[in-house]
Amino acid sequence: MTSAVKLGHMDVALAEAEAAGARGEVPVGAVVVAPGGAVVARAGNRTRELKDPSAHAELLAIREAARRLGSERLTGHDLYVTLEPCPMCAALVSLARIRRLYYGAADAKGGGVEHGPRVFTHETCHHVPEIYPGLGEARASALLKAFFGERRNPPSSPSRGEDGTPQA
Ligand code: ZN
Repeated sequence: MTSAVKLGHMDVALAEAEAAGARGEVPVGAVVVAPGGAVVARAGNRTRELKDPSAHAELLAIREAARRLGSERLTGHDLYVTLEPCPMCAALVSLARIRRLYYGAADAKGGGVEHGPRVFTHETCHHVPEIYPGLGEARASALLKAFFGERRNPPSSPSRGEDGTPQA
């Protein structure tokens, strides 16, 4: 697959992230791609809407792809997600036998791939995908920063300095 096609798939994930942000969810999006390159499932975060702490973009996309495929294993399928998966989703990527994991922004606070428990490094992890971090990273992190920036800086709050610290 060419890098333009990979970016195209990440564009779909980014569109899902944007739509999630517009719904008031943390803006993260995910796409499952079949071995032939077709998008099988796409989803954004819906934890607030569904009142389900597990309704992460990756989980919803993988669940939908498995349902469509009629199989609990997504052998040969790739997952594109705008943010480094959390430990739960990283474990799910392994259980689903995802072939390649592409993600955008790293998540030092909540990630489980290159941060925290580093799920794929353990002996108890029986399937390790090929991992490609940083695809579409700038746009993914800009979305997250804008989302959390707006939440921390509602229009009525005191102005802040360029480094983000409140100004007296
Ligand atoms: Zn997750």
